[in-house]
Amino acid sequence: MTYVCTRGGEPIADTRAILQGLSDNGGLYVPAEPVRATPDMLPFAADVPYARRAAQVLALFLKSFDPEELLTICQAAYGRFDDPKTAPVRPLKDGAALLELYHGPTLAFKDMALQVLPRLVTSSARKEGEMRAIHILTATSGDTGKAALEGFRDVPGTRCTVFYPLNGVSRLQERQMVTSQGDNVQVIAVRGNFDDAQTGVKRLFNDPAFRAEMAQKGSVLSSANSINIGCLVPQVAYYFSAYADLANIGLIQPGEAINICVPTGNFGDILAAWYAKRMGLPIGRLICASNRNHVLTDFIRTGEYNADRPFHKTISPSMDILISSNLERLLFELADRRPEAVRAMMDDLKATRHFRLPGDALDRLQEEFAAYYADDADTKATIRAYWESEDTLVDPHTAVGLSALRQYRAEHPEDRRFMLVNATASPYKFAQDVAEAIGLPPEEDAMRAAEQLAKRTSTPLPGPIAALKTAAVAHTTVSDIDRMGESVLAGL
Ligand SMILES: *Cc1c(COP(=O)(O)O)cnc(C)c1O
Repeated sequence: MTYVCTRGGEPIADTRAILQGLSDNGGLYVPAEPVRATPDMLPFAADVPYARRAAQVLALFLKSFDPEELLTICQAAYGRFDDPKTAPVRPLKDGAALLELYHGPTLAFKDMALQVLPRLVTSSARKEGEMRAIHILTATSGDTGKAALEGFRDVPGTRCTVFYPLNGVSRLQERQMVTSQGDNVQVIAVRGNFDDAQTGVKRLFNDPAFRAEMAQKGSVLSSANSINIGCLVPQVAYYFSAYADLANIGLIQPGEAINICVPTGNFGDILAAWYAKRMGLPIGRLICASNRNHVLTDFIRTGEYNADRPFHKTISPSMDILISSNLERLLFELADRRPEAVRAMMDDLKATRHFRLPGDALDRLQEEFAAYYADDADTKATIRAYWESEDTLVDPHTAVGLSALRQYRAEHPEDRRFMLVNATASPYKFAQDVAEAIGLPPEEDAMRAAEQLAKRTSTPLPGPIAALKTAAVAHTTVSDIDRMGESVLAGL
């Protein structure tokens, strides 16, 4: 399978796209040809385990890999999950269900991709004859970082550096990251917000001097967030799996279209659903849910992307994003795959912090997407409502999605399609806010809040959270935004 870049250039092999992550010209890689699901996936039979479903989806996008190798990779990756179904669906009242994507080692949906990616990276390096170490550089709004650190920890031939915004992630997220083990990992707090950190990483990728210094140390750079196609493809798989589970338990009829509602930040998770739809999975509307940083809501409603606005810290920090990297892949399709149109929009964004969709693209966007947002008060009220009326404890990101579900149904009473809502993190990862939302007194200490939450709700405290209590801090570096490169080199 070959991949093309959204900003133009020569097509490259899937293995190269995985090793590179981001293209040299700043663009993102997308499949050169449309990818179609095979009939046995529509839907998968009940007895096909998750790893096999995922491997089959991966095989459609990654033709340089032997299907058996992909199966081995997926079995190893998802063997570490604490639910036998890996990504189970949990039915709610009124024709809806949660898709629980947080059963991996770091308790957020990023594990779905980042337990697979390191295995794809090392295999790609072998296939490409790449002898240098692959150095992963990633900015995180909270969850990607820990998932990457877990995924790459002690993987031979790789190194992993994670940048997170100082005071911009939850206490538990920070604690998860700074206690990371592994001889090949590095965690750096940056003085700035997530967008600053992400822009800083992109700058390092495009900085010839930095790349040369890294090359001298025997390393080549790659990225480990949903910019990397090797992250995006495993995310496509869970929509096929969830659809099969809904059909197999009789909540929908095979072939029936469902809507999917996704709490969104970098636009990776929802874009994976859009790819699933393109491949033939029966999906109606995609509902994009944002928090107070609702640049995507406004974009989908007006066609104007405007990042020139205040940045708000919210209780759903993994969605505190004003520049949604993966949107570029959708823009490429909306612009009929014309790189020059994408470059024009991205140049505008860089120069003026906004851009506008050309021509009739807005109509096509709105046919497939609807968009809503929830502020923190709404998010907390939603957590409380689901706890009280459905006995379901959700994290703030998931609650943003559930708020969008309610708003969509109020605005579109005619649409009776089944609604799947992504549950993207364990409520325990955001224990302080979740505990407060369901009426517990405020608790300054994140670990104690988690313990109290477990006691009050009689839900089990997840093992990875319990382990944080005694874990030692191993990373204390803080960097200015314009010194990120030096900080990486200093740690080598
Ligand atoms: C990353 C993340 C999101 C947003 O996903 P994108 O792919 O960036 O849109 C939502 N919720 C949680 C818990 C996350 O970690």
